[in-house]
Amino acid sequence: MLDGCVARPQEEIDRYRAAGYWTGEPLGAALRRWAATHRDRTALVGEGRRISYAGLDSWADRLAAGLRGLGIGPGDRVVVQLPNAPDFVAVCFGLFRLGAVPVFSLPAHRSYEVRHLCELSGAVAHVVPGSQRGFDHVGMSVALRKEVPSLRHTLVVGEPRPGTPGDVVLLDGLTGHPGKAYAPDPTDAAFFLLSGGTTALPKLIPRTHDDYGYQIRATAEVCGLGPQTVYLAVLPVEFNFTWGCPGILGTLHAGGTVVFAPDPSPDTCFPLIAAERVTLTSVVPTIAHLWMGGNEHARHDLSSLALLQIGSAKLHRHVAEQVRPVLGCALQQVFGMAEGLLTMTRRDDPDDVVLATQGRPVSPADVIRVADPVTGERAEPGEVGELVTRGPYTLRGYYRAPEHNRTAFTDDGFFRSGDLVRLTARGDLVVEGRVKDVVIRGGDKVSATELEGHLTRHPRVAQAAVVAVPDPALGEAICACVMPDGDPPGMPELRCMLRESGVADFKLPDLLEIYDAFPLTGLGKVDKKALAADAAGRRAARGEENH
Ligand code: AMP
Repeated sequence: MLDGCVARPQEEIDRYRAAGYWTGEPLGAALRRWAATHRDRTALVGEGRRISYAGLDSWADRLAAGLRGLGIGPGDRVVVQLPNAPDFVAVCFGLFRLGAVPVFSLPAHRSYEVRHLCELSGAVAHVVPGSQRGFDHVGMSVALRKEVPSLRHTLVVGEPRPGTPGDVVLLDGLTGHPGKAYAPDPTDAAFFLLSGGTTALPKLIPRTHDDYGYQIRATAEVCGLGPQTVYLAVLPVEFNFTWGCPGILGTLHAGGTVVFAPDPSPDTCFPLIAAERVTLTSVVPTIAHLWMGGNEHARHDLSSLALLQIGSAKLHRHVAEQVRPVLGCALQQVFGMAEGLLTMTRRDDPDDVVLATQGRPVSPADVIRVADPVTGERAEPGEVGELVTRGPYTLRGYYRAPEHNRTAFTDDGFFRSGDLVRLTARGDLVVEGRVKDVVIRGGDKVSATELEGHLTRHPRVAQAAVVAVPDPALGEAICACVMPDGDPPGMPELRCMLRESGVADFKLPDLLEIYDAFPLTGLGKVDKKALAADAAGRRAARGEENH
């Protein structure tokens, strides 16, 4: 097993195998099987290319051979930071076939986040796009190689921009000898997802061949996927929601077609839905809201769209109610986490369940408990408490994080989600809030602790506290509350400093509030609840909350 991963008890492994949840098939082998069944059917559509199952299978082999030639092999970690396009899938499967382990990084990440991922994983290579919306990922990667000793290669997908340094590897022309297929331990990490982050920076979530293979089969079944499915990948491909809930992998498992949207705007997505006859897609509430506003939806034929999955952040009922009348498709609410557990409403659920709950777990083997966040005792039925969970696709430990794992899991291996939920009488889950200190801006999770650390590096910031403030467009806006030391810093100055530290744009504060003193709890800690209410009140008093 990869050093730094937490093993499951053998009894549990045996139980999941006996029940058929875990099949022991590595993901690289699964693609071989899908390709043998669906050969000439279209697997992937994107950037003007259409790739068949057989084509994807041989593309992954070609990449595996080339990467092997560079010395990349079993257990090596490779940070993959690519936009929504077919290459992402081919690169991941190429790495799976080598036994190398992709670490998913978002294209929006900048040097601060990518350095952390490279260092934490001990990555040997970084895969980047040749050119992506004005940002020079290649230049960033080349600079990082000087700072991170383990990082040997910058691997570039697509045409590099002029002036690209010579010491990078172009994946398009890469060839090598097809070596012997590597057979990984299916209970071992296949790839790493990133945690939504409650502490300073994302933690790495090892997802195994067995657990993810099960997740895609289980979610594909719940959503009724088949060869007729055409899935539109709208959110970043590196999100668990897009990659496998059922998403890209669930669609390939079902023999369907995955279409890649380069951005989530209606201008991009609606013509793709109409042209490719998309049947399924998954978005965050902010995007759903955007799609249903304006008149754009009426100008395109969206009639093929049968199911819209909405998740990753709280969906308000009034938005949920518009889905069928405006877009003409069914709604499915999805709650879940890259750590594992997924709950979904079902197609035959009554309207009230679909509109107002986040549904039931996808596996009969998911165990969920609602616990008092302080005492850990089970909450009474119907009461709000912290969701703790264990199951066949939920992690037993973050990678290389023994300290954090001690508090993130209960003694009997349940993951403490940090989400406050309640269960309805029917057994459906309703998300009520969270214990963890995260702002969910659109669907992006931004750790308050991380941002506070950055803000206090400013010479005129004595103390900083980051809170979520309700926002009609984003769901939650990021509000930086600052106690200044001298002249209060302005927003442009703070944003500029954060950018210069290499912080990704989606984490930059939307609002700045200056305080002489923060409200404190009885224990002398900053009372974030009171502070958030105050910050929201100030914004409302200025009449800005509807902007
Ligand atoms: P991630 O691991 O990035 O997918 O983030 C997981 C977190 O997103 C969960 O722990 C929740 O805090 C939040 N989340 C996911 N789905 C929902 C939902 N349907 N409603 C409210 N919060 C959600």
